[in-house]
Amino acid sequence: MASHYSFFESVERNFDKAAPFTKIEKGILNQIKACNSVYRMKFPVRVNGKIEVIEAYRVQHSHHKLPVKGGIRYSMDVNQDEVMALASLMTFKCAIVNVPFGGAKGGIKIDPRKYSEYDLEKITRRYTAELVKKNFIGPGIDVPAPDYGTGAREMSWIVDTYNSLRPGEVDAMGCVTGKPVTQGGVRGRTEATGLGVFYGIKEMCNDADVMKMLGMEAGLDGKKVVIQGLGNVGYNAAKFFQDAGALIVGVAEYEGSIADASGINIDKLMAYRKKNGSIVGFKGTNKLKDNTAALELPCDILIPAALENVIDKKNAKRIKAKIIGEAANGPITPEADVILNKKGICVVPDMFLNAGGVTVSYFEWLKNLSHVRYGRMEKRYSESTNSKFVASIEKMTGQKFSAKQKSRLIQGPEEADLVYSGLEDTMISSYDEIRSIWMRSKRIEDMRTAAFVASINKVGLSYMELGIFP
Ligand code: GLU
Repeated sequence: MASHYSFFESVERNFDKAAPFTKIEKGILNQIKACNSVYRMKFPVRVNGKIEVIEAYRVQHSHHKLPVKGGIRYSMDVNQDEVMALASLMTFKCAIVNVPFGGAKGGIKIDPRKYSEYDLEKITRRYTAELVKKNFIGPGIDVPAPDYGTGAREMSWIVDTYNSLRPGEVDAMGCVTGKPVTQGGVRGRTEATGLGVFYGIKEMCNDADVMKMLGMEAGLDGKKVVIQGLGNVGYNAAKFFQDAGALIVGVAEYEGSIADASGINIDKLMAYRKKNGSIVGFKGTNKLKDNTAALELPCDILIPAALENVIDKKNAKRIKAKIIGEAANGPITPEADVILNKKGICVVPDMFLNAGGVTVSYFEWLKNLSHVRYGRMEKRYSESTNSKFVASIEKMTGQKFSAKQKSRLIQGPEEADLVYSGLEDTMISSYDEIRSIWMRSKRIEDMRTAAFVASINKVGLSYMELGIFP
């Protein structure tokens, strides 16, 4: 491990740094820090004729609000400490974006690339059955979602298994989020985390005072961005940055890293990787020393979007970015955080920046509980109101809009429009909240501490409101 601290201890350390700036008493702080329930399971699955014993976890960090919420990852790095750390980050993440859930996380210790689709389905269904047996899943109990190594496919196996074990439960669809749209998912969930990363950084880049403080020009246009990890989050974030006029000057993946100061076209790179099995060799790019070298490229914004602990005390000194946006959970060790702070690099913390996923999961869960698609009730009504407005403007001005302008002005919102707008609003409000705490006192040195202060206050307050301390 690259740090003195385990991942969970790192989260505790960041928590302890922020706690003195909150109004919450010591006993409640200790309760907020603790993981409420840790379920470790081992179950057998027959793979290629042999029985394999699979190790898996589900951790519910905080029950101050129910259900608890958080993804399930498939990775060989899964262990109890990691899942506990990720579950606790989920508590603070949900609080910072005002999503009314406690935090949870799950993990299965497998390398999904080594299994066939059939075997992955067996493992996922068995894991779900284990969760059902112990009452660790349900729309009002604990609602998983995708994470590293999982996606909509796994979520559809989970909802199907849950449905067959709990027949007739009217809200069963809300037992998991990140489902395919045809299975109760919501439009916009796939790209939500990457889009949230983009909205969060965009808001910061439009904040002229903060940008001045960092010695940068406001705005995203022309900003040099480096992305580590081209999974769902990294790819989507890169795509939104590129579409907004930023240049992707470096990319790191597990097979190697590449750079091109004039900008890398992200879709062409993805197509190249699909064909050749690697990003290395993509036209116009230089191959760098190893698969983490791109992290050290000179750039404005560095986006680590893969796993934890990729920036540690060894490489932190060599980081040349001005802003680091934590799209992954826990990509920076506490020792590295101190070094980066001293260098004046601004770290935008994971619990805020990658909260887009759980925010849109919340929208999906609401959709499942209300049994109606977003926009279904109001789309036509909005269109008829808009038509009346357009007609009045035309009458008053005596001028006519073109057919194209007219259809743009009249169009009522689709589900994806509402999801994007809800997500953007959420990221902007949270940014403002963190910023105001960060700017309030010189002693709150960084955005991570400010974000923790906001979250701890909210979670602490709801514990107090629960009145469970007679
Ligand atoms: N796995 C994602 C995260 O770490 C999403 C969690 C969710 O949607 O519940 O935030």
